[in-house]
Amino acid sequence: AATEVGRTVGASRLTVLSGPSGVGKSTVIAELRKQRPEVWLSISVTTRKPRPSETDGVEYHFVTDAEFDRLVAEGQLLEWAEFAGNRYGTPRVPVVERLRAGRPVLLELELNGARQIRTTMPEACLVFLAPPSWEELVRRLSQRGTESSEVVQRRLETARVELAAEKEFDHTIVNTSLEEVRDRLLTLVTAPSNG
Ligand code: 5GP
Repeated sequence: AATEVGRTVGASRLTVLSGPSGVGKSTVIAELRKQRPEVWLSISVTTRKPRPSETDGVEYHFVTDAEFDRLVAEGQLLEWAEFAGNRYGTPRVPVVERLRAGRPVLLELELNGARQIRTTMPEACLVFLAPPSWEELVRRLSQRGTESSEVVQRRLETARVELAAEKEFDHTIVNTSLEEVRDRLLTLVTAPSNG
């Protein structure tokens, strides 16, 4: 299945946006899609509980542990990873279909998911969104107010590991001005495929 997916990348571009929790990936993607709705964003499955602002089927498909186990066993996920005590994965079929149809596809993944895509779909473009500074990341993650201090602490520990992996990515964008970041990402997402 991996090679089949790999071949379809030749027709259309697959871009992965990664970077530490709290860096602003979702904000940048929302901004990009306002401007270019044809860029298709994969909706992941997760065992995490929804935040008050989240709706099932919009930000994520929220599933039970048993449902996630089944998706893994049936090979329905293109990649999956555990992050801060929950599992997250990308449903395979919708991504393959969009790439076949020639649409630019965007995945928002933590580090281990990005590494899996690097292996299974080497033509994919891997982009790392970096915070302007460590202090800024701590500030953003703490002030988001959606997680307990224990969860924030756990995410910050993971962020250190993620920041150290920046060199594995094809491109790094430092999150300074939202418009600038959006435009740089847009250029990469819609660039002719190198597959
Ligand atoms: P959050 O709980 O803040 O929504 O997401 C936690 C982390 O999981 C973020 O870094 C996000 O990019 C990542 N993530 C979201 N969906 C997926 C997925 O399908 N696979 C992987 N590997 N990571 C994901």
